Amino acid sequence: MDTATNKPPASTSSAALSDADSDIYRRIAVQDVKSLLSHEHGLALSEAAARLQSIGPNALIERPAVPVWRKLLTQFSELVVGILIAAAIISGLMGEWIDAVAILAIVVLNGVLGFFQEQKAERAMAALRKLTVPLCKVVREGRVQQIAARTLVPGDLIELEAGDQVPADARLLRTFGVRAQEAALTGESKPVAKSADIVLPTETPLAECRNMVFMGTELAAGKASAVVTATGMHTELGHIARMLATSEPELTPLQRRLKELGQLLVVTCLAIVAVIFTLQLARGGDPLEVALLAISLAVAAVPEGLPAVVTLVLAIGLQRMAKCHALVRKLASVETLGSVTVICADKTGTLTRNEMTARVVVAGDQIYRVTGVGYAPVGQVVSATSLVEALAGPTDGKESADHVPCDAIMAIDLRQLLTCALYCNNARLVSTAGEWKIVGDPTEGALLVLAAKGGCTADPNLRVVHEIPFDSQRKAMSVATDNGQVATIYCKGALEVVLEKCDREFCRGEAVPLDARRCQEILKYQAELAARAMRMLAFAYREAPEVVEGTYQERGLVFLGLVGMTDPVREEARGAIDRCRRAGIRSIMITGDHPSTAQAVAEELALIEAGQRVITGQELDALSDAQLEAELPRLAVFSRVRAEHKLAIVKAWRARGEVVAMTGDGVNDAPAIKAAHVGIAMGLSGTDVTKEASDIILTDDNFASIVNAIEEGRGIYDNIQKFVRYLLTCNSGEVLFMFFAAVFGWPSPLTAVQILWINLITDGLPALALGLEPPGPDIMHRPPRPVRETLITRALGLQIFWQGLLIATVTLIVFELTYSGTRQHLEAARTAAFCVLALSQLFFSFTCRSQRYTLPELGVTSNRYLFIAIAASLVLQVGVVAVPGIQGLFDATDLSPQQWAVVLFVSLMPVTIVESLKLLVTYKKKGPRGDMHQGVSKSEAKAR
Ligand code: ATP
Repeated sequence: MDTATNKPPASTSSAALSDADSDIYRRIAVQDVKSLLSHEHGLALSEAAARLQSIGPNALIERPAVPVWRKLLTQFSELVVGILIAAAIISGLMGEWIDAVAILAIVVLNGVLGFFQEQKAERAMAALRKLTVPLCKVVREGRVQQIAARTLVPGDLIELEAGDQVPADARLLRTFGVRAQEAALTGESKPVAKSADIVLPTETPLAECRNMVFMGTELAAGKASAVVTATGMHTELGHIARMLATSEPELTPLQRRLKELGQLLVVTCLAIVAVIFTLQLARGGDPLEVALLAISLAVAAVPEGLPAVVTLVLAIGLQRMAKCHALVRKLASVETLGSVTVICADKTGTLTRNEMTARVVVAGDQIYRVTGVGYAPVGQVVSATSLVEALAGPTDGKESADHVPCDAIMAIDLRQLLTCALYCNNARLVSTAGEWKIVGDPTEGALLVLAAKGGCTADPNLRVVHEIPFDSQRKAMSVATDNGQVATIYCKGALEVVLEKCDREFCRGEAVPLDARRCQEILKYQAELAARAMRMLAFAYREAPEVVEGTYQERGLVFLGLVGMTDPVREEARGAIDRCRRAGIRSIMITGDHPSTAQAVAEELALIEAGQRVITGQELDALSDAQLEAELPRLAVFSRVRAEHKLAIVKAWRARGEVVAMTGDGVNDAPAIKAAHVGIAMGLSGTDVTKEASDIILTDDNFASIVNAIEEGRGIYDNIQKFVRYLLTCNSGEVLFMFFAAVFGWPSPLTAVQILWINLITDGLPALALGLEPPGPDIMHRPPRPVRETLITRALGLQIFWQGLLIATVTLIVFELTYSGTRQHLEAARTAAFCVLALSQLFFSFTCRSQRYTLPELGVTSNRYLFIAIAASLVLQVGVVAVPGIQGLFDATDLSPQQWAVVLFVSLMPVTIVESLKLLVTYKKKGPRGDMHQGVSKSEAKAR
């Protein structure tokens, strides 16, 4: 080692490590790194806090926030709004100052409203982002703890395992089969092997730094501990600041479509407004007045508030989903959720509770029953004469008095199995305030509890010196231990996998040959336990002198026996599967577990239907892609699968034209999660890699949460459709009204201020309230929305047009009736039309709550936001017309009680007509409402 260049930093306890210091670590041996650390147990909490204070958070520099004033200003940067402001100023200069002030005030109010909507949406999105902060495992003051990766500092000891994202640059201290995926940093697509024991020369290129791991990369396999050498912008990733490029906000397909729709509307509206402008001018209208009117109409007709309301509704919907344990990472997935037709779900933890309890042990030629419930190590391992007896006995641990201890020689077999279960284990059993909990894998936790119940405790002289970590591809794990005299390998895993590695069996304290007949007998035990939905684990061991050299292979093992454990199904999953069925969504179970275990669980959940079957990974291997695709409808459960099978299943469903949601937790699930339309990662058991690949993270790993998220997703889409329909109907009503008035050669029936005001009170609060509508009663009783269906279908477009025409017509009638009687009372006619147009739009929002259900069916008051919004808007409307002083600003005049009665009556007409039609259509098509659900289920049946 070149001591001149490799001179270690004087002390890592100094507050900060410079970039030069962090380079040194790759060039020195592990023992030197360890000696430099001078704190075997990791940093002291106070030291970590001091370093964080002086070095700053472990984060890449974020894009500077846009100042509030600029955000506010962008509200007024629309071209038409600019022209309107200019026109208002000109009319002010020409003496029409009341109009000018009123217009400017409304424009400002509109801008401020839009600004607050955007701010709220942004804040809601930021709050959601905070829920997904990356975490990491760190050793501080001798304790392993999980902290936000942001608070990591140089000198921290971190622990990594397969699937973890590397939170900072770090020098490896201990490695077991580590391979890192560094494509993000070096472009190398294959995982790179890493080892703590390598010492590298100076100037080693990044891609060859085999003794270090780097921020932003992932551990594809193995287990490691490492010391952090650089954080935040001092890391290799920080140097290239790669992540900045990806922080651009992306638009979802829906937002993009809305943007396009907005552009189309701008062109259409401007064309119509140009016609109105020309006609009014030809009629001899005052050019300034007509120009102002035309611009105001353009501002009113263009739904400029749409993107802000969509973002806000999405953000609020996402918050609701987060409360239901589904964190959305990619906005676009909210839309896709509503179209999901197939959910491929993991078994363990998603459909079951992942609360494992060992119930039966087979060790040597003896069967044992395990008593006691939960993770408390209270209970016993009691000998039984048969599996049937072992499975039938009470499990509450109350039988200690009459339990029959097993034969002392047989007990040696049990002890050896329990020792294997204890050491081949990474979980910890902890008791807080009398409550026992598992830290780590529940399967391994259950084995710790079992060992404790069997009285097996850790040997203080025995150390684990090597480990081949569990990997769901291999379905096994092993450790090498050393007690100073003898080195031993302990291995556990799926029975078929472990049996293959064994040539002997441990029986009555001796290793005896394991023949095919005995293997069949053991497999029969497994079949019987699996039929009772139990998860099985087999155990084996051997003495292994070669471990001293640091190598070993899981071969020539002595079979120790097996443990059967229960994992209760989630009660709520059963209901959720049923809801899916009614909603035209197929549920599928994919598991690494034994086929019989999987089948038993599927039957308990009523997930498997007549004519459907379980298929194993091995059988899948024999099918071609086309065969799998054809066979899919008959397959409800996939067992003993590997990662590549998951990918094949997703692809096959996709090829059948289905919209697939896929759950996963392991590092190997990431490709399938990426390939699915909606990738769902498990928040509790999932690895960072899976989470990174996913669109949605489930914070409770629960199947029911996926179904709730789908319901929310459908609801959000429906709500967006509702307020888009509302806004467009209102705007087309306004434009058509003005258009026909111009065609009929009438004087302008509304003033610029009136148009802008209507736009303000109808486009704002009621539209937003529609976005908060609770999910409709049929939301999970209808088939999924076709993924290619546009937001505004042809039928909806037609509806928008004729209903807008309806609003325009009633307003035209009222204007004409009021105006034709007198011909002198233009102001009164305008005021009446102003009120009818505003009120009919406000009332119309009620019918936009559903395209199918009438108000009484939805519950008139079930959307209280809409009630509040309409009440507030009504008060404002009546206020501007009736309050002396303000009245003048809006070019309004007093209306008589009779006129108010007419206004009210006429304004209620559009909503009444549309609601009556809904009722009529329903009765004509389906008969009384009771039959409707039948209609739905028929179409569901078709969809399936
Ligand atoms: P899913 O969550 O997808 O339903 P799973 O959890 O049932 O899958 P895996 O975790 O891949 O599937 O487990 C597959 C098999 O590997 C199990 O049936 C069990 O025999 C074995 N196994 C599970 N956990 C461990 C472990 N920690 N150590 C050794 N073997 C294990």
